[in-house]
Amino acid sequence: MITLSDIHKSFGDNHVLKGVSVAVPEGGVTALIGASGSGKSTLLRCVNLLEMPQSGEVRIDDARIQFAPGNKISRDAILALRRKTGMVFQNFQLFPHLTALENVMEGMLVVLKWPREQARSRALELLEKVGMTAKADAWPSSLSGGQQQRVAIARALAPAPKVLLCDEPTSALDPQLAGEVVEVLAQLAREGTTMLMATHDLRLAATIASNVVFLESGEVVEAGPAKSVFGSPRDERTKRFISTLT
Ligand code: ADP
Ligand code: MG
Repeated sequence: MITLSDIHKSFGDNHVLKGVSVAVPEGGVTALIGASGSGKSTLLRCVNLLEMPQSGEVRIDDARIQFAPGNKISRDAILALRRKTGMVFQNFQLFPHLTALENVMEGMLVVLKWPREQARSRALELLEKVGMTAKADAWPSSLSGGQQQRVAIARALAPAPKVLLCDEPTSALDPQLAGEVVEVLAQLAREGTTMLMATHDLRLAATIASNVVFLESGEVVEAGPAKSVFGSPRDERTKRFISTLT
């Protein structure tokens, strides 16, 4: 349902993604693991086209774009693909001048052009889902990091994306606050939300991922069901990576 095929991305001379292919099954959580600098964030940003790959194909549902040098990609095609994604960032990135509720409503008002009442009622539903109803009118600066991240998750889910992209969603949080975010993500996973999650937190990956992709220096070293990648990794590099973090 989401397939990335042979994605190449360079920044100048730095060849960051070297032909990455990943299949994200519908209704599962795919954890993207790998050391810092291996290209996890870049890959996520190539899925929602915050970065444009130089070549390869990004396909989500019925939207697909083939990148190749000299291929001109229309803005409509980019927006069509991007709208199938929701993104959760490491540092939450809530709009500081909007309340929790307004943060969740913003995309529905501005991008989807929904009427205010419809956006408001959907936003309230989503805040309830992440356990933030009581803080609907709070400013981001008055919320804990865990609460801000839960609002950010609600915001990302607002346009009913096909895939929720999460970039190190818990790594800016101390363990207790990370736990409340993991709980929300685990609940979404149980409900069948499709997620692609970059994380170096192997416990988080082991807790909620059904599939794991291990990236090293911009290449997929090993990919498969979480049970087999964590339980009996085939590649020496995967074994080493897993052993350093457990
Ligand atoms: P990870 O998320 O696994 O830590 P990143 O995707 O952030 O890895 O980074 C992979 C490589 O890409 C690094 O060498 C980083 O410096 C480089 N990189 C990422 N984003 C940019 C950018 N916008 N401009 C230049 N280099 C970048
Ligand atoms: Mg990163």
